[in-house]
Amino acid sequence: MLQLVEIARGPSLDDYAAQVHLAPLVADLRAEGRRLAGQLGGRTIWMVSSTATGGGVAEMLPRVVAMLCELGVHTRWVVIGSDEQRFFTATKQIHNLIHGAGVPRLDATDRAVYEAVSLANEQMLAEHVRPGDVVIAHDPQPAGAVSLLKRRYPIRAIWRSHIGLDRENDATREAWGFLHPWLTEYDRVVFSVESYVPEPLRRCARIIPPAIDPLSHKNRELPVHKLTGVLTSASLLAPTHPQLTDRFETAAQRLQDEGGFAPAMYPEDPGLLFRPIVTQVSRFDRLKGFLPLLRGFVRLKEMVRKQRTNLTRRHGRRLEIARLVLAGSDPRGVRDDPEGQEVLDELTAACLGLDPEIRRDVVLLVLPMVSRKENALMVNAIQRCSSVVVQNSLQEGFGLTAAEAMWKSCPILGTQAVGLRAQIRPGVDGGLIDDPEDADEIATKLNFMLAAPKTRTTWGENARRRVAEEYLVFRQVHRWLCLVSQLC
Ligand code: UDP
Repeated sequence: MLQLVEIARGPSLDDYAAQVHLAPLVADLRAEGRRLAGQLGGRTIWMVSSTATGGGVAEMLPRVVAMLCELGVHTRWVVIGSDEQRFFTATKQIHNLIHGAGVPRLDATDRAVYEAVSLANEQMLAEHVRPGDVVIAHDPQPAGAVSLLKRRYPIRAIWRSHIGLDRENDATREAWGFLHPWLTEYDRVVFSVESYVPEPLRRCARIIPPAIDPLSHKNRELPVHKLTGVLTSASLLAPTHPQLTDRFETAAQRLQDEGGFAPAMYPEDPGLLFRPIVTQVSRFDRLKGFLPLLRGFVRLKEMVRKQRTNLTRRHGRRLEIARLVLAGSDPRGVRDDPEGQEVLDELTAACLGLDPEIRRDVVLLVLPMVSRKENALMVNAIQRCSSVVVQNSLQEGFGLTAAEAMWKSCPILGTQAVGLRAQIRPGVDGGLIDDPEDADEIATKLNFMLAAPKTRTTWGENARRRVAEEYLVFRQVHRWLCLVSQLC
């Protein structure tokens, strides 16, 4: 069963252009769009993925498809499917192997199942796709089906990998070995970062980084009243005045002293609007480096006690009242991520084990996923309240959280993880931690950034500019148009 996805109405290009700072980006896209759409003639671009909900691909595609359509390029999004559970187990394994994780153990049955499901999907795709069309397969699941289609019909085919690793190991070799016979059919393969391209695919590889939507709930501007409204609705701020909007369906949950979770304004308001706030928002995943970041923050607090006399009065006070916010999506709301609860439990135990004076300044938050809109607004508001946004990842596919914070003019402290290194220019938009497990280094770099408010402001402005130039959805659509038109 193939699903043709209807895109819900979102902002139009005119809505984006109405914001003066976005207008030139939209104008550029429109000009290029007119030129390139002409070259495409009446061809359809088909985006083929394996899910329409959940995950980064499903989050990004609606905007890209809608913008291409508005530019006059006929674009459709189709989702392949199968009742064969083993197909999804195998493709999940391939996904992990491309990340360099898991046991390289794809066998003849995996190959047979992958081939059979690809064949079934290819036949359904063939009922819709016409000769001359351009078909873009996202990630390993639809790679086989589109490859088979390309063998039979005169189409252009592109494979888009949303994942990668900057080195080889047995796991990655197994995954690329499995996919290689299918990928050789493609005209182009697309990766997010140069160093993810495996050697045999280098010749036909192109780079298109992910992008964010500046008008989404996650990234749109939040004027002061709206910001405080979101914080109050989410229980991240104590309601001291009458409020225009209703409480959110579910409040942000904060770790309490006795070990349970309660709405975040208990036991007292977390102080997001008043204190220097160091934040990391991510999925609760070991590779995101929450635990070493917590250790780094503790080291920073200990430094205040030991070196008080060496600090200026202002900076001493700043460190004394600073708080660390560790926020992650509720693991119960993130499907196929069983590790999330474990990581949250570890973090909970680590927080409860802290010296009570330091524990008071660590706010561990679980952000409910019941409403995607409310969750996105919480992430948006928390990032905007931050003096420094940290992404202490040990490994990172790209790290949209960095682009999201940078767009909000937050100075960012990332790591040398490939995706973060690609986005953050150290000393221009933020800093980079060399060893995300080194608490001393984290403390030193946090201290440096907190001590320098002017530098933080400059880095924040630069960061926003960088995202405007490289990582907004307009640029991504432009990159897709260029690539597709080169093939036609
Ligand atoms: N995120 C979210 N709600 C949360 C926590 C995280 O929507 O409660 C989002 C975050 O804003 C970002 C995405 O999850 O857009 C994570 O993407 P990223 O590329 O940073 O890492 P991934 O989770 O894909 O490894």
